[in-house]
Amino acid sequence: MKLVRYGPAGREKPGLIDADGKLRDLSRKVKDIDGAAISPSSLALLRKVDTKRLPLVKGRPRIGACVAGVGKFLAIGLNYVDHAKETGSPIPEHPIVFFKTQTCIQGPNDPIMLPKDSTHTDWEVELGVVIGRRARYVDEKDALRYVAGYCLINDVSERDYQIKKGGGQWGKGKGCDTFGPIGPWLVTTDEVKDPQSLKMWLKVNGQTKQNGSTGTMIFGVARLVADLSRYMTLEPGDVITTGTPPGVGMGHKPEPVYLKAGDAIELGIDGLGTQTQKVVAYKARR
Ligand code: ZN
Repeated sequence: MKLVRYGPAGREKPGLIDADGKLRDLSRKVKDIDGAAISPSSLALLRKVDTKRLPLVKGRPRIGACVAGVGKFLAIGLNYVDHAKETGSPIPEHPIVFFKTQTCIQGPNDPIMLPKDSTHTDWEVELGVVIGRRARYVDEKDALRYVAGYCLINDVSERDYQIKKGGGQWGKGKGCDTFGPIGPWLVTTDEVKDPQSLKMWLKVNGQTKQNGSTGTMIFGVARLVADLSRYMTLEPGDVITTGTPPGVGMGHKPEPVYLKAGDAIELGIDGLGTQTQKVVAYKARR
């Protein structure tokens, strides 16, 4: 199943994409696409729904983040060998974990707003993992059973905040408003045969910047879920963004390149849909 949330920001409704690619309203079946809706028992019920009988959604509404009520938005750093090299970092022996904020989460096609005075905002196409069952000390061989589905994420990052101003912690550069586009779809695990063989790409202004595969991750999804579950309880609706392949702006040769207002970003992962974002200048928000 491809689960979606659609409608104005903060008032999204649950939906799904049917076999013909049409958006259908799921609000009579679940309140939202959240931890409760993506539990194994709820997904089993949703799989029995005759999608043709669900109301068709008219027009082309805004698409929101594909999961609501995210408790933890976890991220893995330097999880691709070539990306670690392009940033001049050693290959990690254990997964590097940092946190993104809930307030950075937004829809897949909402604009990315440069933070005030930002000059080093960068892109990162990533495979997102959405947890569907509470996980504590799970074994790697069982770990994928705790995953409800996968999604596309742009782990937008401000490198000066992350590196120069972070004192060794990356959080400052990873959780700014608009830095967490998630979606368009939460694709359930039955539709993703092998999470370690998905092609992924990202373009800026039509130019390909990243072109990789989840096949070259250092720590695969099962290992990441197992590892994280040793250090914290993973809850349904938690999201893990699993690292980016090479081709980010900070690794650009001969000089790094960063995003500026007016830039257009497009990214995608096989089977998980695409995102398009316009980069806009800082504007005070309420
Ligand atoms: Zn990242």
